[in-house]
Amino acid sequence: MEVGVLDIQGDVSEHINIFESLGVKAKKVRRTADLENLSGIVIPGGESTVIGRIMLERGISIEILEKELPVMGTCAGLILISKDVEGRQGILPLLDISLKRNGYGSQRESFETDLVINGIGRFRGVFIRAPRIIKVGKGEVLASYKNEAVMVSEGKNLGLTFHPEIYGDSKIHKLFLDRL
Ligand code: GLN
Repeated sequence: MEVGVLDIQGDVSEHINIFESLGVKAKKVRRTADLENLSGIVIPGGESTVIGRIMLERGISIEILEKELPVMGTCAGLILISKDVEGRQGILPLLDISLKRNGYGSQRESFETDLVINGIGRFRGVFIRAPRIIKVGKGEVLASYKNEAVMVSEGKNLGLTFHPEIYGDSKIHKLFLDRL
């Protein structure tokens, strides 16, 4: 099995290292040809408007949809795979949730906290200018923070408002792989 990590912005090598620590081949995705033979792809955090624009320009988002490639979207990546972002649709509308960008406000741009994740247990979540999930439709909530969903799955797709790669903990990446 080989998975991809979208290489436009964000902690690309950190995600790759975690997959490799689990014994799974992972490669950087920069163009549509890189999507050949992948079983899934991670869209890392960064600036969702920039990542989205470049994905559209290069035809990557359309190709992911056509290949029905499972996506793990973290932070900005989650924004791109949500059906409702403040009234607009993400470019890869895979998760039936409503989001608010930068939902914790500017005075609390970043924080970390211990989360409890279904099927995983304790996990250190790092929230960096994170979006907030306002409503969950069909998705299954896997973790919450202050009674709000912060990790949701629908089919093989996974969305997290936080960054799972910062401390090198591989449990969330393993959960994504186990479902592919
Ligand atoms: N605030 C960013 C956005 O709206 C997301 C931040 C992140 O990915 N860490 O795109």
